Amino acid sequence: MTDNAAAELKMQFMFALRSKGVTDQRVLTAMETIDRAPFVRGIFSERAYDDTPLPIACGQTISQPSVVGLMTQALDVQPRDKVLEVGTGSGYQAAILSQLARRVYTIDRHRRLVREARAVFEAMDLANITTLSGDGSFGLPDQAPFDRIIITAAAEDPPGPLLAQLKVGGIMVVPVGQSDAVQSLIRVHRTETGFDYEELRPVRFVPLIEGLAPDS
Ligand code: SAH
Repeated sequence: MTDNAAAELKMQFMFALRSKGVTDQRVLTAMETIDRAPFVRGIFSERAYDDTPLPIACGQTISQPSVVGLMTQALDVQPRDKVLEVGTGSGYQAAILSQLARRVYTIDRHRRLVREARAVFEAMDLANITTLSGDGSFGLPDQAPFDRIIITAAAEDPPGPLLAQLKVGGIMVVPVGQSDAVQSLIRVHRTETGFDYEELRPVRFVPLIEGLAPDS
């Protein structure tokens, strides 16, 4: 690809983000900085700059870039934040978060995805991401509490252990609903006295599944 063609693709990519409602300049800058191509492999890599989800290993998907942007924007990450992502997948969402937060912990139930994402983070010199394999629905009690928690797989309800690991004043973003239907993206604010829930938009994610994946 020529430099001109690459610049054109990048411009279209940024335009698609803006036109779908990603307006937070810090999020746009992070998404301009982090190239999506290294997170997409094989025959799909030439579609890395399309605003579509794409298949990755282990039957999972890398999310649609505008959905990554909208979820990141909804999370309102601050520079000193410690963020937990459940559902590393390709690692793309975690890489975007790494530009905005102090530290990002990301966990996936597929060891292979974690291994591959870690290699991309190392190649890109993203030193503030800690990758772990395991069932993220129990969170990371050792590192809790978190300022921000993002779940990138659909849960039937926001998992209790994760709500418990959110700081007072913290924010969680999670797709809620059955995995075979359209889900709702929910934003949860933890207050002094409880949790406030806000429905943001319809989304479609692969399901949050219990346990470490057997194939990993
Ligand atoms: N954020 C990813 C996309 C996530 S796809 C990206 O940027 O590419 C959803 C991921 O959630 C899958 O990789 C799946 O393996 C993972 N997942 C599902 N249930 C999980 C669980 N209980 N704990 C950790 N990861 C889980």
